[in-house]
Amino acid sequence: ETITVQELAARMSMRAVDLVKELMKEGQMVTANATLDADTAQLVAEDLGHSVKRVSEADVEEGLEGAADKPEDMKPRPPVVTIMGHVDHGKTSLLDAMRQTDIVAGEAGGITQHIGAYQVDLGDNRKITFLDTPGHAAFTQMRSRGAQVTDIIILVVAADDSIMPQTEEAISHAKAAGVPIIVAINKVDKPDADPNKVRTDLLQHEIQVESMGGDVQDVEVSALKKMNLDALQDAILLQAELLELKANPDRPAEGAVVEARLDKGRGAVATFLVERGTLHRGDILVVGSEWGKVRAMHDDKGQQVKEAGPAYPVEVLGLDGVPEPGDKFNVVESEARAREVAEFRKRQRRDKAAAQTSGTSLEQMMAQLQDAEIKELPIVIKGDVQGSIEAIVGSLEKINTDEVRVKILHTGVGGISESDVILAEASSAPVIGFNVRANKQARDEAERNGVEIRYYSVIYNLIDDIKAALSGMLEPEL
Ligand code: GDP
Repeated sequence: ETITVQELAARMSMRAVDLVKELMKEGQMVTANATLDADTAQLVAEDLGHSVKRVSEADVEEGLEGAADKPEDMKPRPPVVTIMGHVDHGKTSLLDAMRQTDIVAGEAGGITQHIGAYQVDLGDNRKITFLDTPGHAAFTQMRSRGAQVTDIIILVVAADDSIMPQTEEAISHAKAAGVPIIVAINKVDKPDADPNKVRTDLLQHEIQVESMGGDVQDVEVSALKKMNLDALQDAILLQAELLELKANPDRPAEGAVVEARLDKGRGAVATFLVERGTLHRGDILVVGSEWGKVRAMHDDKGQQVKEAGPAYPVEVLGLDGVPEPGDKFNVVESEARAREVAEFRKRQRRDKAAAQTSGTSLEQMMAQLQDAEIKELPIVIKGDVQGSIEAIVGSLEKINTDEVRVKILHTGVGGISESDVILAEASSAPVIGFNVRANKQARDEAERNGVEIRYYSVIYNLIDDIKAALSGMLEPEL
């Protein structure tokens, strides 16, 4: 545990320069940015007449998550689905079409609200929750903050276009997250639709649909003509059954932020997805480094709701600041507790930003993986031509051993983009560029989040470095 001189000064309400002077008197030549260990910090603070109460992460976060749920308290919950696929393949159309299948939407008389997620009720206790920000950027950004709310990914592939670059990316994202895929072969109403080509092309990406002898479900649909949507929904519910999705609704709520923004009139507004428990109006909660009291909630049909159970998305008012998508929320017993946790996390985020130690360089990866059983080095590879990527992947496969291996999250032809970096970040992986560079957005994103980008123009050098990283991951022989 450490603290910077600056932060320590701030907590004692004194100027950093004055603290530096005090430290110098004690013979410590440090700057305001230097870090002190906890013992030194305590000595100095006590010398200056402060009483010290050490708060560690474990103390503050203690009990926040609550006890594990008993099996008998677990109740089935609706699946949470994200739609991914190449641009123009029909993600938005499919989301809209699915939404219209809700049997209560008309009755309720509410107006559709885009709150970032919606739930359709198909009757007979069959419900599905959709995240309605399609695409993988939102999905991966949430995952990189530790939230994995998606249970199932619908991969939309247009039958007249088959697999395209963003289809490949989506497959990589799903695999990296370990989320099962259902393939929706869309636009089958078009005369040039060729669903079988989609199925065969998928084989090359290690997706074997059922008719090809695999276990990935595929459904031919037309979002435009609203054809076969019920079959797609059946497939989703079947997959959900296989996943045995359950949650205990009778406990204080916890879950994740799907979307958040500042509304001029209403203040901070955030869409929550409850993962377990039930959220009530009046609940006090901490969310990321913000806290609040649930003043009002409404659903995607604009209806006020008093409570929200597992997988039921609601927009919440009453937070003191805007959280980030992917932030977790927990209901706590008092405002004091909520404030304490939020303030602690704010400090932590500041410290982290100041220290900029969150990196994912190859060296840090090695250190992180030191404890794991089978060691995996995740990487993202971008190259100038398919041939060189294949050569690199081939060589990397050869250096895998039983103990350590390279896990290729994604490969692609072309420059390094922001979405490559976001994907890498979510798995703490470096990005390798072979004869390609990163664009500005990608460099900025990498800089902000400490993702390492390494450039190579000689395959041999690349393989050598990875080999070195892998051997660093090996357990020392005893
Ligand atoms: P997104 O970029 O993946 O969200 O794709 P959109 O939903 O915006 O759809 C792109 C275009 O394809 C639009 O012009 C849609 O009308 C059209 N489209 C979507 N689904 C279908 C379909 O099932 N059949 C046909 N013929 N066109 C479709």
